Amino acid sequence: MTHHRTVIVGSGFSGIGMAIRLLREGERDFVLLERADDIGGTWRDNTYPGCRCDVPSHLYSFSFAPNPSWSSTFSPQPEILDYLRDVAARFGVRPHIRFGTELESAAWDEGGARWRLETSAGPISADVLIAAQGPLSDPLVPDLPGLGSFEGTAFHSARWDHEHRLDGERVAVIGTGASAIQFVPKIQPAVGRMHVFQRTPPWVMPHPNRRMSDLERKLYSRLPAAQLAMRAGIYWARETFVLQFRNRRMRELATRMALRQLERQVPDPELRAKLTPRYELGCKRILPTDEWYPTLTQPNVEVVTDGIREIKARSIVSADGAEREVDTIIFGTGFHVTDIPLARRLHGRDGRTLAETWDGSPSAYKGAAVAGYPNLFFLVGPNTGLGHNSIVFMIESQINYVAGALKAMRRRGARVVDVRPEAQAAYNAEIDAMTEGTVWVSGGCSSYYIDRNGRNSTIWPTFTMPFRQRTREFDEAAYAMGAPAPAPAGAIA
Ligand SMILES: Cc1cc2nc3c(=O)[nH]c(=O)nc-3n(C[C@H](O)[C@H](O)[C@H](O)COP(=O)(O)OP(=O)(O)OC[C@H]3O[C@@H](n4cnc5c(N)ncnc54)[C@H](O)[C@@H]3O)c2cc1C
Repeated sequence: MTHHRTVIVGSGFSGIGMAIRLLREGERDFVLLERADDIGGTWRDNTYPGCRCDVPSHLYSFSFAPNPSWSSTFSPQPEILDYLRDVAARFGVRPHIRFGTELESAAWDEGGARWRLETSAGPISADVLIAAQGPLSDPLVPDLPGLGSFEGTAFHSARWDHEHRLDGERVAVIGTGASAIQFVPKIQPAVGRMHVFQRTPPWVMPHPNRRMSDLERKLYSRLPAAQLAMRAGIYWARETFVLQFRNRRMRELATRMALRQLERQVPDPELRAKLTPRYELGCKRILPTDEWYPTLTQPNVEVVTDGIREIKARSIVSADGAEREVDTIIFGTGFHVTDIPLARRLHGRDGRTLAETWDGSPSAYKGAAVAGYPNLFFLVGPNTGLGHNSIVFMIESQINYVAGALKAMRRRGARVVDVRPEAQAAYNAEIDAMTEGTVWVSGGCSSYYIDRNGRNSTIWPTFTMPFRQRTREFDEAAYAMGAPAPAPAGAIA
Protein backbone atom coordinates (compact mmCIF):
# COMPACT_ATOMS: atom_id res chain seq x y z
CA MET A 1 0.00 0.00 0.00
CA THR A 2 1.35 3.45 -0.91
CA HIS A 3 2.06 5.65 2.09
CA HIS A 4 2.44 9.44 2.21
CA ARG A 5 3.19 11.78 5.04
CA THR A 6 0.23 13.93 4.00
CA VAL A 7 -2.85 13.33 1.89
CA ILE A 8 -5.05 16.27 0.93
CA VAL A 9 -8.60 15.64 -0.27
CA GLY A 10 -9.72 18.15 -2.92
CA SER A 11 -8.09 20.52 -5.38
CA GLY A 12 -10.09 23.73 -5.07
CA PHE A 13 -8.77 26.93 -3.51
CA SER A 14 -8.15 25.10 -0.21
CA GLY A 15 -6.33 22.03 -1.53
CA ILE A 16 -4.21 24.02 -3.98
CA GLY A 17 -3.33 26.62 -1.34
CA MET A 18 -2.36 23.89 1.17
CA ALA A 19 -0.21 22.12 -1.43
CA ILE A 20 1.63 25.35 -2.26
CA ARG A 21 2.34 25.91 1.43
CA LEU A 22 3.69 22.37 1.83
CA LEU A 23 5.96 22.87 -1.18
CA ARG A 24 7.20 26.14 0.29
CA GLU A 25 7.98 24.35 3.56
CA GLY A 26 10.07 21.84 1.61
CA GLU A 27 7.53 19.01 1.92
CA ARG A 28 7.46 16.67 -1.06
CA ASP A 29 5.82 13.54 0.34
CA PHE A 30 2.19 14.45 -0.24
CA VAL A 31 -0.63 13.89 -2.75
CA LEU A 32 -3.96 15.57 -3.45
CA LEU A 33 -6.87 13.25 -4.17
CA GLU A 34 -9.37 14.76 -6.59
CA ARG A 35 -12.46 12.83 -7.63
CA ALA A 36 -12.88 14.92 -10.81
CA ASP A 37 -10.58 15.10 -13.83
CA ASP A 38 -9.49 18.69 -13.35
CA ILE A 39 -8.66 21.09 -10.56
CA GLY A 40 -10.75 24.07 -9.49
CA GLY A 41 -13.50 22.67 -7.23
CA THR A 42 -16.38 25.15 -7.15
CA TRP A 43 -15.02 26.95 -10.22
CA ARG A 44 -14.73 23.75 -12.25
CA ASP A 45 -18.19 22.46 -11.35
CA ASN A 46 -20.28 25.63 -11.61
CA THR A 47 -20.27 26.44 -15.31
CA TYR A 48 -23.83 27.76 -15.46
CA PRO A 49 -24.45 30.93 -17.49
CA GLY A 50 -23.63 34.04 -15.50
CA CYS A 51 -21.60 32.31 -12.80
CA ARG A 52 -19.21 34.74 -11.09
CA CYS A 53 -17.88 35.45 -7.62
CA ASP A 54 -19.73 37.89 -5.40
CA VAL A 55 -16.66 39.01 -3.47
CA PRO A 56 -14.33 41.35 -5.42
CA SER A 57 -11.63 39.46 -7.33
CA HIS A 58 -8.76 41.43 -5.84
CA LEU A 59 -9.74 39.82 -2.55
CA TYR A 60 -11.20 36.57 -3.84
CA SER A 61 -7.76 35.27 -4.86
CA PHE A 62 -4.60 34.18 -3.03
CA SER A 63 -2.71 36.97 -1.24
CA PHE A 64 0.56 35.54 -2.58
CA ALA A 65 -0.64 35.33 -6.18
CA PRO A 66 -2.38 38.56 -7.22
CA ASN A 67 -3.79 38.63 -10.73
CA PRO A 68 -3.51 42.02 -12.44
CA SER A 69 -5.54 40.82 -15.44
CA TRP A 70 -9.04 40.34 -13.98
CA SER A 71 -11.49 41.55 -16.62
CA SER A 72 -14.01 42.88 -14.13
CA THR A 73 -14.19 43.70 -10.48
CA PHE A 74 -16.21 40.50 -9.79
CA SER A 75 -14.76 37.97 -12.21
CA PRO A 76 -16.68 35.39 -14.16
CA GLN A 77 -16.22 31.68 -13.45
CA PRO A 78 -13.99 30.84 -16.47
CA GLU A 79 -11.44 33.44 -15.34
CA ILE A 80 -11.36 32.14 -11.78
CA LEU A 81 -10.89 28.59 -13.07
CA ASP A 82 -8.05 29.76 -15.37
CA TYR A 83 -6.52 31.57 -12.41
CA LEU A 84 -6.54 28.39 -10.28
CA ARG A 85 -5.10 26.31 -13.12
CA ASP A 86 -2.37 28.88 -13.64
CA VAL A 87 -1.49 29.12 -9.93
CA ALA A 88 -1.39 25.32 -9.58
CA ALA A 89 0.93 25.02 -12.60
CA ARG A 90 3.16 27.95 -11.59
CA PHE A 91 3.74 26.65 -8.06
CA GLY A 92 4.30 23.04 -9.12
CA VAL A 93 1.16 21.50 -7.57
CA ARG A 94 -0.04 19.47 -10.56
CA PRO A 95 2.41 16.53 -10.29
CA HIS A 96 1.05 15.90 -6.78
CA ILE A 97 -2.61 15.56 -7.87
CA ARG A 98 -4.23 12.17 -8.35
CA PHE A 99 -7.21 12.90 -10.60
CA GLY A 100 -10.23 10.62 -10.81
CA THR A 101 -9.49 9.47 -7.28
CA GLU A 102 -12.32 9.75 -4.80
CA LEU A 103 -11.80 9.24 -1.09
CA GLU A 104 -14.43 6.61 -0.29
CA SER A 105 -13.59 6.00 3.35
CA ALA A 106 -10.81 6.58 5.85
CA ALA A 107 -10.19 4.90 9.19
CA TRP A 108 -7.74 5.89 11.90
CA ASP A 109 -5.30 3.07 12.59
CA GLU A 110 -4.28 3.52 16.24
CA GLY A 111 -1.42 1.04 16.25
CA GLY A 112 0.09 2.33 13.02
CA ALA A 113 -0.62 5.98 13.93
CA ARG A 114 -1.94 6.67 10.45
CA TRP A 115 -5.05 7.04 8.35
CA ARG A 116 -5.92 4.09 6.15
CA LEU A 117 -7.78 5.34 3.09
CA GLU A 118 -9.96 3.50 0.62
CA THR A 119 -10.10 5.39 -2.66
CA SER A 120 -11.66 4.71 -6.04
CA ALA A 121 -8.09 4.06 -7.26
CA GLY A 122 -7.13 1.69 -4.45
CA PRO A 123 -5.96 1.89 -0.84
CA ILE A 124 -3.33 4.31 0.47
CA SER A 125 -2.27 5.47 3.91
CA ALA A 126 -1.19 8.79 5.36
CA ASP A 127 0.29 10.14 8.58
CA VAL A 128 -1.85 13.24 8.23
CA LEU A 129 -5.14 13.70 6.39
CA ILE A 130 -6.21 17.17 5.29
CA ALA A 131 -9.87 17.43 4.29
CA ALA A 132 -10.30 20.20 1.74
CA GLN A 133 -13.43 18.71 0.23
CA GLY A 134 -15.27 22.01 -0.02
CA PRO A 135 -18.19 23.56 1.82
CA LEU A 136 -20.38 23.68 -1.30
CA SER A 137 -19.27 20.80 -3.46
CA ASP A 138 -22.08 18.23 -3.23
CA PRO A 139 -25.24 19.48 -4.99
CA LEU A 140 -28.50 19.10 -3.10
CA VAL A 141 -31.55 18.02 -5.10
CA PRO A 142 -34.69 18.02 -2.95
CA ASP A 143 -36.59 14.79 -2.67
CA LEU A 144 -39.77 16.05 -4.36
CA PRO A 145 -42.71 13.65 -4.73
CA GLY A 146 -42.75 12.14 -8.21
CA LEU A 147 -39.37 13.53 -9.29
CA GLY A 148 -38.29 10.09 -10.50
CA SER A 149 -41.23 9.97 -12.93
CA PHE A 150 -40.25 13.19 -14.72
CA GLU A 151 -39.61 12.46 -18.41
CA GLY A 152 -38.11 15.79 -19.44
CA THR A 153 -34.59 17.03 -18.79
CA ALA A 154 -33.54 17.83 -15.22
CA PHE A 155 -30.22 19.01 -13.85
CA HIS A 156 -28.67 20.92 -10.97
CA SER A 157 -27.03 24.28 -11.65
CA ALA A 158 -23.68 22.89 -10.46
CA ARG A 159 -23.92 20.16 -13.12
CA TRP A 160 -25.18 22.32 -16.00
CA ASP A 161 -26.14 20.35 -19.10
CA HIS A 162 -24.49 22.40 -21.86
CA GLU A 163 -25.57 19.88 -24.51
CA HIS A 164 -29.21 20.65 -23.84
CA ARG A 165 -30.72 23.63 -25.69
CA LEU A 166 -33.27 25.63 -23.69
CA ASP A 167 -34.44 27.76 -26.64
CA GLY A 168 -38.20 28.08 -26.71
CA GLU A 169 -38.64 25.53 -23.93
CA ARG A 170 -40.92 25.61 -20.91
CA VAL A 171 -38.44 25.73 -18.06
CA ALA A 172 -38.99 25.38 -14.32
CA VAL A 173 -36.34 26.80 -12.05
CA ILE A 174 -36.55 25.50 -8.50
CA GLY A 175 -34.86 27.72 -5.93
CA THR A 176 -33.99 31.41 -5.81
CA GLY A 177 -30.57 31.40 -4.16
CA ALA A 178 -27.11 32.65 -5.11
CA SER A 179 -26.85 30.52 -8.29
CA ALA A 180 -30.41 31.03 -9.58
CA ILE A 181 -30.15 34.81 -9.37
CA GLN A 182 -27.12 34.56 -11.66
CA PHE A 183 -28.34 32.08 -14.29
CA VAL A 184 -32.06 32.99 -14.56
CA PRO A 185 -31.39 36.42 -16.15
CA LYS A 186 -29.00 34.79 -18.66
CA ILE A 187 -31.39 32.08 -19.89
CA GLN A 188 -34.68 34.01 -19.69
CA PRO A 189 -34.39 35.71 -23.12
CA ALA A 190 -34.00 32.32 -24.86
CA VAL A 191 -36.63 30.21 -23.11
CA GLY A 192 -40.27 30.14 -24.17
CA ARG A 193 -41.77 30.20 -20.69
CA MET A 194 -40.10 30.20 -17.31
CA HIS A 195 -41.67 29.26 -13.96
CA VAL A 196 -39.48 30.30 -11.02
CA PHE A 197 -40.45 28.31 -7.92
CA GLN A 198 -39.58 30.41 -4.92
CA ARG A 199 -39.85 29.13 -1.35
CA THR A 200 -38.37 32.21 0.32
CA PRO A 201 -37.48 35.46 -1.46
CA PRO A 202 -33.83 36.45 -1.06
CA TRP A 203 -32.68 39.89 0.03
CA VAL A 204 -31.18 41.43 -3.08
CA MET A 205 -28.73 44.32 -3.18
CA PRO A 206 -27.45 46.40 -6.11
CA HIS A 207 -24.35 44.82 -7.68
CA PRO A 208 -21.33 47.10 -7.99
CA ASN A 209 -19.65 44.97 -10.70
CA ARG A 210 -17.89 46.85 -13.52
CA ARG A 211 -15.29 46.17 -16.20
CA MET A 212 -11.69 46.75 -15.17
CA SER A 213 -10.18 49.46 -17.36
CA ASP A 214 -6.97 48.94 -19.37
CA LEU A 215 -5.38 51.63 -17.26
CA GLU A 216 -6.16 49.75 -14.02
CA ARG A 217 -4.79 46.52 -15.44
CA LYS A 218 -1.59 48.21 -16.59
CA LEU A 219 -1.21 49.87 -13.21
CA TYR A 220 -1.63 46.59 -11.33
CA SER A 221 0.78 44.69 -13.54
CA ARG A 222 3.48 47.39 -13.34
CA LEU A 223 2.91 48.33 -9.72
CA PRO A 224 1.81 45.24 -7.74
CA ALA A 225 1.80 47.33 -4.55
CA ALA A 226 -1.17 49.27 -5.96
CA GLN A 227 -3.17 46.05 -6.27
CA LEU A 228 -2.18 44.97 -2.77
CA ALA A 229 -3.34 48.36 -1.45
CA MET A 230 -6.65 47.96 -3.29
CA ARG A 231 -7.01 44.44 -1.85
CA ALA A 232 -6.41 45.75 1.66
CA GLY A 233 -8.93 48.54 1.16
CA ILE A 234 -11.60 46.10 -0.04
CA TYR A 235 -10.81 43.75 2.84
CA TRP A 236 -11.23 46.39 5.54
CA ALA A 237 -14.35 47.84 3.92
CA ARG A 238 -15.95 44.38 3.83
CA GLU A 239 -14.92 43.67 7.42
CA THR A 240 -17.34 46.39 8.52
CA PHE A 241 -20.19 44.55 6.76
CA VAL A 242 -20.24 42.04 9.62
CA LEU A 243 -21.75 44.70 11.86
CA GLN A 244 -25.05 44.43 10.01
CA PHE A 245 -25.37 40.80 11.10
CA ARG A 246 -24.80 41.71 14.71
CA ASN A 247 -26.75 44.92 15.07
CA ARG A 248 -30.29 45.72 13.89
CA ARG A 249 -29.63 49.43 13.46
CA MET A 250 -26.57 48.73 11.35
CA ARG A 251 -28.67 46.78 8.85
CA GLU A 252 -31.34 49.43 8.49
CA LEU A 253 -29.41 51.27 5.81
CA ALA A 254 -28.79 48.11 3.79
CA THR A 255 -32.44 47.10 4.22
CA ARG A 256 -33.58 50.47 2.88
CA MET A 257 -31.22 50.16 -0.11
CA ALA A 258 -32.54 46.69 -0.92
CA LEU A 259 -36.20 47.75 -0.66
CA ARG A 260 -35.53 50.83 -2.80
CA GLN A 261 -34.10 48.61 -5.55
CA LEU A 262 -37.13 46.31 -5.32
CA GLU A 263 -39.56 49.26 -5.59
CA ARG A 264 -37.67 50.79 -8.50
CA GLN A 265 -37.34 47.58 -10.48
CA VAL A 266 -40.70 45.91 -9.79
CA PRO A 267 -43.63 48.27 -10.45
CA ASP A 268 -46.33 45.56 -10.08
CA PRO A 269 -47.44 45.57 -6.40
CA GLU A 270 -48.55 41.94 -6.51
CA LEU A 271 -45.20 40.69 -7.79
CA ARG A 272 -43.39 43.06 -5.42
CA ALA A 273 -45.25 41.54 -2.48
CA LYS A 274 -44.14 38.06 -3.55
CA LEU A 275 -40.54 39.23 -3.76
CA THR A 276 -40.46 41.09 -0.45
CA PRO A 277 -38.64 39.07 2.22
CA ARG A 278 -40.54 38.56 5.50
CA TYR A 279 -37.37 37.96 7.50
CA GLU A 280 -34.49 40.24 8.36
CA LEU A 281 -31.76 41.10 5.90
CA GLY A 282 -28.65 38.96 6.46
CA CYS A 283 -30.49 35.98 7.98
CA LYS A 284 -29.83 34.19 4.69
CA ARG A 285 -27.06 35.03 2.22
CA ILE A 286 -27.50 38.56 0.78
CA LEU A 287 -27.43 38.41 -3.01
CA PRO A 288 -25.90 41.14 -5.16
CA THR A 289 -27.57 41.56 -8.57
CA ASP A 290 -29.11 44.29 -10.72
CA GLU A 291 -30.64 41.76 -13.13
CA TRP A 292 -32.84 39.53 -10.97
CA TYR A 293 -35.90 41.73 -10.50
CA PRO A 294 -36.03 43.09 -14.08
CA THR A 295 -35.90 39.49 -15.33
CA LEU A 296 -38.80 38.43 -13.13
CA THR A 297 -40.97 41.22 -14.59
CA GLN A 298 -40.61 39.86 -18.14
CA PRO A 299 -43.78 38.56 -19.83
CA ASN A 300 -42.44 35.00 -20.22
CA VAL A 301 -41.62 34.67 -16.49
CA GLU A 302 -43.89 33.59 -13.65
CA VAL A 303 -42.89 33.54 -9.98
CA VAL A 304 -44.62 30.64 -8.21
CA THR A 305 -44.73 30.85 -4.42
CA ASP A 306 -47.18 28.06 -3.67
CA GLY A 307 -44.68 25.27 -3.14
CA ILE A 308 -44.46 22.04 -5.07
CA ARG A 309 -46.95 19.27 -4.37
CA GLU A 310 -45.88 16.80 -7.04
CA ILE A 311 -43.84 16.32 -10.16
CA LYS A 312 -45.42 14.36 -13.00
CA ALA A 313 -44.00 12.98 -16.26
CA ARG A 314 -44.23 16.36 -18.03
CA SER A 315 -45.50 18.83 -15.46
CA ILE A 316 -45.21 20.28 -11.98
CA VAL A 317 -48.24 20.54 -9.68
CA SER A 318 -48.05 23.32 -7.11
CA ALA A 319 -49.63 23.24 -3.66
CA ASP A 320 -52.72 25.12 -4.87
CA GLY A 321 -53.38 22.32 -7.41
CA ALA A 322 -52.29 24.29 -10.50
CA GLU A 323 -50.41 22.19 -13.05
CA ARG A 324 -47.69 23.66 -15.30
CA GLU A 325 -46.29 21.74 -18.24
CA VAL A 326 -42.51 21.88 -18.36
CA ASP A 327 -39.78 20.51 -20.63
CA THR A 328 -36.83 21.10 -18.33
CA ILE A 329 -36.31 21.47 -14.60
CA ILE A 330 -33.23 23.28 -13.33
CA PHE A 331 -32.41 22.91 -9.65
CA GLY A 332 -30.87 25.97 -8.06
CA THR A 333 -31.26 24.32 -4.70
CA GLY A 334 -27.79 24.62 -3.23
CA PHE A 335 -25.53 22.08 -1.61
CA HIS A 336 -25.14 19.68 1.30
CA VAL A 337 -23.67 22.09 3.83
CA THR A 338 -24.38 21.10 7.42
CA ASP A 339 -24.57 17.40 6.52
CA ILE A 340 -20.96 17.33 5.21
CA PRO A 341 -20.89 14.16 3.04
CA LEU A 342 -17.23 13.38 3.82
CA ALA A 343 -18.10 13.10 7.53
CA ARG A 344 -19.92 9.84 6.79
CA ARG A 345 -16.68 8.42 5.42
CA LEU A 346 -14.23 9.23 8.23
CA HIS A 347 -13.88 6.76 11.12
CA GLY A 348 -12.06 8.00 14.21
CA ARG A 349 -10.43 6.46 17.28
CA ASP A 350 -13.60 4.73 18.47
CA GLY A 351 -14.54 3.53 14.99
CA ARG A 352 -17.53 5.85 14.77
CA THR A 353 -17.97 8.03 11.72
CA LEU A 354 -17.56 11.75 12.15
CA ALA A 355 -21.19 12.15 11.07
CA GLU A 356 -22.20 9.94 14.03
CA THR A 357 -19.99 11.91 16.40
CA TRP A 358 -21.37 15.23 15.18
CA ASP A 359 -24.98 13.98 15.17
CA GLY A 360 -26.18 16.81 12.95
CA SER A 361 -24.05 19.58 14.48
CA PRO A 362 -20.58 19.77 12.94
CA SER A 363 -18.08 21.33 15.31
CA ALA A 364 -14.31 21.55 15.41
CA TYR A 365 -11.49 23.40 17.09
CA LYS A 366 -10.65 26.46 14.99
CA GLY A 367 -12.66 24.91 12.16
CA ALA A 368 -9.84 22.41 11.73
CA ALA A 369 -9.49 19.66 14.36
CA VAL A 370 -11.97 17.27 15.97
CA ALA A 371 -11.24 15.36 19.20
CA GLY A 372 -10.98 11.61 18.60
CA TYR A 373 -9.95 12.11 14.96
CA PRO A 374 -6.17 12.51 15.31
CA ASN A 375 -3.96 13.85 12.55
CA LEU A 376 -7.03 15.07 10.65
CA PHE A 377 -7.40 18.72 9.71
CA PHE A 378 -10.24 20.41 7.88
CA LEU A 379 -9.91 23.44 5.65
CA VAL A 380 -13.16 25.44 5.56
CA GLY A 381 -14.41 23.18 8.32
CA PRO A 382 -17.25 23.98 10.75
CA ASN A 383 -17.81 27.68 11.59
CA THR A 384 -15.45 29.09 8.99
CA GLY A 385 -18.07 30.23 6.46
CA LEU A 386 -18.66 33.93 5.91
CA GLY A 387 -21.52 36.13 4.83
CA HIS A 388 -19.49 39.29 4.42
CA ASN A 389 -15.92 38.67 3.28
CA SER A 390 -13.70 36.41 1.19
CA ILE A 391 -13.44 32.79 2.20
CA VAL A 392 -9.92 32.77 0.74
CA PHE A 393 -8.86 34.85 3.75
CA MET A 394 -10.19 32.11 6.07
CA ILE A 395 -8.58 29.41 3.92
CA GLU A 396 -5.16 31.08 4.13
CA SER A 397 -5.55 31.47 7.90
CA GLN A 398 -6.32 27.77 8.28
CA ILE A 399 -3.52 26.72 5.93
CA ASN A 400 -1.09 28.61 8.15
CA TYR A 401 -2.49 26.86 11.22
CA VAL A 402 -2.25 23.37 9.71
CA ALA A 403 1.28 24.05 8.44
CA GLY A 404 2.13 25.01 12.04
CA ALA A 405 0.71 21.70 13.27
CA LEU A 406 2.83 19.70 10.82
CA LYS A 407 5.95 21.62 11.86
CA ALA A 408 5.19 21.09 15.56
CA MET A 409 4.75 17.35 14.98
CA ARG A 410 8.11 17.17 13.29
CA ARG A 411 9.85 19.30 15.92
CA ARG A 412 8.42 17.28 18.80
CA GLY A 413 8.81 13.95 17.04
CA ALA A 414 5.08 13.44 17.70
CA ARG A 415 3.36 10.89 15.54
CA VAL A 416 -0.10 11.70 16.83
CA VAL A 417 -1.80 15.00 17.46
CA ASP A 418 -5.35 15.07 18.82
CA VAL A 419 -7.18 18.16 20.00
CA ARG A 420 -8.21 18.02 23.66
CA PRO A 421 -12.01 17.65 23.99
CA GLU A 422 -12.14 20.42 26.60
CA ALA A 423 -10.35 22.85 24.24
CA GLN A 424 -12.80 22.02 21.48
CA ALA A 425 -15.79 22.41 23.82
CA ALA A 426 -14.58 25.77 25.16
CA TYR A 427 -13.95 27.07 21.64
CA ASN A 428 -17.44 26.08 20.51
CA ALA A 429 -19.02 27.59 23.60
CA GLU A 430 -17.38 30.84 22.53
CA ILE A 431 -18.78 30.46 18.98
CA ASP A 432 -22.25 29.87 20.44
CA ALA A 433 -21.94 32.94 22.65
CA MET A 434 -20.78 35.05 19.69
CA THR A 435 -23.71 33.77 17.62
CA GLU A 436 -26.29 34.79 20.22
CA GLY A 437 -28.36 37.78 19.16
CA THR A 438 -27.07 37.75 15.57
CA VAL A 439 -29.47 37.92 12.65
CA TRP A 440 -28.67 34.30 11.72
CA VAL A 441 -30.55 33.04 14.77
CA SER A 442 -32.98 35.88 15.42
CA GLY A 443 -33.78 37.00 11.87
CA GLY A 444 -36.84 34.79 11.37
CA CYS A 445 -35.62 32.57 8.54
CA SER A 446 -34.30 29.06 8.06
CA SER A 447 -30.96 28.84 6.30
CA TYR A 448 -28.04 26.51 5.69
CA TYR A 449 -26.11 28.39 8.35
CA ILE A 450 -28.18 26.70 11.04
CA ASP A 451 -28.08 22.92 11.36
CA ARG A 452 -30.92 20.52 12.13
CA ASN A 453 -30.30 20.90 15.87
CA GLY A 454 -30.71 24.66 15.61
CA ARG A 455 -27.01 25.45 16.05
CA ASN A 456 -24.87 27.72 13.91
CA SER A 457 -22.30 25.23 12.69
CA THR A 458 -21.42 27.04 9.48
CA ILE A 459 -20.67 30.72 10.01
CA TRP A 460 -17.71 32.37 11.71
CA PRO A 461 -19.85 34.87 13.58
CA THR A 462 -17.66 37.94 13.82
CA PHE A 463 -14.82 39.87 12.14
CA THR A 464 -12.30 37.70 10.30
CA MET A 465 -9.20 39.35 11.79
CA PRO A 466 -9.66 37.63 15.19
CA PHE A 467 -9.74 34.32 13.30
CA ARG A 468 -6.47 35.23 11.61
CA GLN A 469 -4.98 35.99 15.02
CA ARG A 470 -6.20 32.71 16.51
CA THR A 471 -4.67 30.71 13.67
CA ARG A 472 -1.36 32.59 13.49
CA GLU A 473 0.39 30.01 15.69
CA PHE A 474 -0.32 26.33 16.25
CA ASP A 475 -1.28 26.25 19.93
CA GLU A 476 0.23 22.96 21.11
CA ALA A 477 -1.30 23.27 24.58
CA ALA A 478 -4.75 22.60 23.12
CA TYR A 479 -3.58 19.22 21.82
CA ALA A 480 -2.44 15.89 23.15
CA MET A 481 0.72 15.24 21.20
CA GLY A 482 2.82 12.16 21.30
CA ALA A 483 3.05 8.50 20.45
CA PRO A 484 -0.04 6.47 19.53
CA ALA A 485 -2.33 5.61 22.47
CA PRO A 486 -1.84 2.06 23.81
CA ALA A 487 -4.19 -0.45 22.24
CA PRO A 488 -7.20 -1.30 24.46
CA ALA A 489 -6.91 -4.59 26.38
CA GLY A 490 -7.86 -7.51 24.18
CA ALA A 491 -7.34 -5.63 20.94
CA ILE A 492 -5.57 -7.50 18.17
CA ALA A 493 -2.56 -5.61 16.84
C1 LIG B 1 -21.42 29.20 -7.48
C2 LIG B 1 -20.59 29.52 -6.26
C3 LIG B 1 -20.09 30.81 -6.10
C4 LIG B 1 -19.32 31.12 -4.99
N1 LIG B 1 -18.86 32.38 -4.84
C5 LIG B 1 -18.12 32.71 -3.76
C6 LIG B 1 -17.63 34.04 -3.57
O1 LIG B 1 -17.88 34.92 -4.38
N2 LIG B 1 -16.91 34.31 -2.45
C7 LIG B 1 -16.64 33.36 -1.52
O2 LIG B 1 -15.97 33.67 -0.53
N3 LIG B 1 -17.08 32.08 -1.68
C8 LIG B 1 -17.81 31.75 -2.76
N4 LIG B 1 -18.27 30.46 -2.91
C9 LIG B 1 -17.92 29.43 -1.93
C10 LIG B 1 -16.78 28.53 -2.50
O3 LIG B 1 -17.16 27.21 -2.32
C11 LIG B 1 -15.47 28.83 -1.79
O4 LIG B 1 -15.17 30.20 -1.98
C12 LIG B 1 -14.24 28.06 -2.30
O5 LIG B 1 -14.26 27.90 -3.69
C13 LIG B 1 -14.09 26.75 -1.59
O6 LIG B 1 -12.90 26.16 -2.00
P1 LIG B 1 -12.52 24.71 -1.47
O7 LIG B 1 -11.24 24.33 -2.10
O8 LIG B 1 -12.59 24.71 0.01
O9 LIG B 1 -13.70 23.77 -1.97
P2 LIG B 1 -14.13 23.37 -3.44
O10 LIG B 1 -13.81 24.44 -4.41
O11 LIG B 1 -15.53 22.90 -3.36
O12 LIG B 1 -13.18 22.14 -3.79
C14 LIG B 1 -13.34 20.89 -3.16
C15 LIG B 1 -12.78 19.81 -4.06
O13 LIG B 1 -12.80 18.57 -3.35
C16 LIG B 1 -13.20 17.54 -4.24
N5 LIG B 1 -13.77 16.45 -3.42
C17 LIG B 1 -14.85 16.52 -2.59
N6 LIG B 1 -15.04 15.34 -2.00
C18 LIG B 1 -14.07 14.50 -2.44
C19 LIG B 1 -13.74 13.14 -2.18
N7 LIG B 1 -14.46 12.40 -1.32
N8 LIG B 1 -12.65 12.60 -2.80
C20 LIG B 1 -11.91 13.35 -3.68
N9 LIG B 1 -12.18 14.64 -3.97
C21 LIG B 1 -13.25 15.21 -3.35
C22 LIG B 1 -14.21 18.21 -5.14
O14 LIG B 1 -14.36 17.52 -6.36
C23 LIG B 1 -13.60 19.60 -5.32
O15 LIG B 1 -12.74 19.65 -6.44
C24 LIG B 1 -19.05 30.12 -4.01
C25 LIG B 1 -19.59 28.84 -4.17
C26 LIG B 1 -20.35 28.54 -5.28
C27 LIG B 1 -20.91 27.15 -5.42
